[in-house]
Parts: sequence; structure tokens; C-alpha cells
Amino acid sequence: VPELPEVETVRRDLVRALTGAVIASVTVTGRRTIRRQSAVEFTDALAGRTILGCRRHGKYLLVDLDDQRVLVIHLRMSGQLRYEPDPQSPLVTHTHVVIDLVGGAQLRFVDPRTFGEMFVADDLDERGVPVELAGLGLDPLEHGVDPSTLAGLLARRRTALKAFLLDQSAIAGIGNIYGDEICFAAKLRPDRRTDSLSKAEVRRLSGAITDILAEAVELRGSTLRDARYRDVSGGEGGFQSHHFVYAREGKACLRCGRSIERTRIAGRSTHFCTKCQR
Ligand SMILES: [Zn+2]
Repeated sequence: VPELPEVETVRRDLVRALTGAVIASVTVTGRRTIRRQSAVEFTDALAGRTILGCRRHGKYLLVDLDDQRVLVIHLRMSGQLRYEPDPQSPLVTHTHVVIDLVGGAQLRFVDPRTFGEMFVADDLDERGVPVELAGLGLDPLEHGVDPSTLAGLLARRRTALKAFLLDQSAIAGIGNIYGDEICFAAKLRPDRRTDSLSKAEVRRLSGAITDILAEAVELRGSTLRDARYRDVSGGEGGFQSHHFVYAREGKACLRCGRSIERTRIAGRSTHFCTKCQR
């Protein structure tokens, strides 16, 4: 499942591939991908527009158009964006949207499980984020999560640390993989209550959020065995071989050798070391 580092990798690729490109036409074949507006409204809003750039907030991609509108893309469970220089190359199954660019290249949206979505938004808030996404909290890469902001967010939510990290209304972009890795890097148990953290622990958590996400972006994200996450050229990420705890249940902790434990928090499998994390 793409989280912030995977979506950021796609964003950087899209900036390179799409900035300045003009959309010739759009073809929608999957019925579930466009669900906030009709397919006709969607394709009409995009045809003829020039792409100015691509931003990201949390796990959402925000493609800026030359009429102030924004093409919003959410990959969700299994969505992939593919940049295809050759429009004659065959479409893979589960291709639901094809955006034809002037000059012949295509941007294709492939999504086997069809949870992903795209829509064109007009109305942006003061952060430049579409009002439809107003419920999203701060983006930890864009703005950073300094210890005092983090302390405020933690104090307002009396929940398990892992549940807090997954809560998109506090910090946007962290999912199950990076939630586990951030807790390990911060040396904090994922079941610690958010209002029990000392000042020093909040500082560690703040550093871990920044460090883990930056390192994962550097390595172009994590492609797991299901191979669902691919970049816009179909390439895999490299951070999966740097996981300390995620999906390592029963294996030796890479730092202390004790067996990694698995539990469930907020309905999600959670992996941690009982010796390294307190
Ligand atoms: Zn350990």
C-alpha cells in the first residue's frame, strides 16, 4: 500500500515527466475510479489543460493545472500511475484511466482493486489543498513535525502511539509500514499511550518521523512481495530491505537479536521489539 514515501517518489517522477505537458484527451474505462464527478465532467475539465507541476499532501497527489484547478489522485490500496512514452504499447489489465498528452505520451492509471480515485477540484484552502481533503492533518515532509507541534497533537489524542501515527487527521501520509518503523526508530512501543510520552520521548519521535520518511524517500519507497507499489516507470523501491520490524514477526531483531513480536493496534498488524522499544 503506497504511503508517503512511495507517493513522494511518484510525485518527483511526475514533476519530471509532466511539467509543461498539455493534455490532449482523457479516456475513462473503469467506473469506480471517477466517483465524485461524472466521467464526462472529469474528461472535459482536463482536456486542453497545461500541467504546471505536481504537489503532494499526505498520500494524495495534487497535479496543478493552468486554470487554477487541481487533478487529485489517490492510489489507495493498489493504484499505480504509469508514464508511457509510447501510446501504442499495450494497456495492462485494470487500466482505468488514460491521459493522452500532446506529443503522444500517456499517463495511465492502473488499479486492480479499484479503491483508488481521481477527481478535478476547484476549491483550495489556504494550504493550497482541495477542500475535499480539509480533514487531513499536517504533511510531515512538507512542513516537518517539530517537537512542540507534535506534543500538542499527541496530548489531544489519548490513544496508542501506532493508532496516532495512522490517524490521517493528525499527521497525513504514514501507514502501517512506516508507523512500525517510526516506533522502532524512536525506541517506543507502538502500544504506548500518546499522553504518557515524556519530553525526551516526543523529541525522539519527532526525529524518527523525519528521519524514517526522508530515508525511505531517498530509497524510492518500499515494494513488498505483493509488488503493488511501482514507480511511474514500473520500477521497485529499495527501502523494503531496510525494514527493522515491519513484517518481521518471529525473526531476530536486527539490533538486539530478540524475536520480533506482532500484535494488533487499530485493527492493523503491528510489529515491534520488546527489548529495544519501551
Ligand atoms: Zn531489539
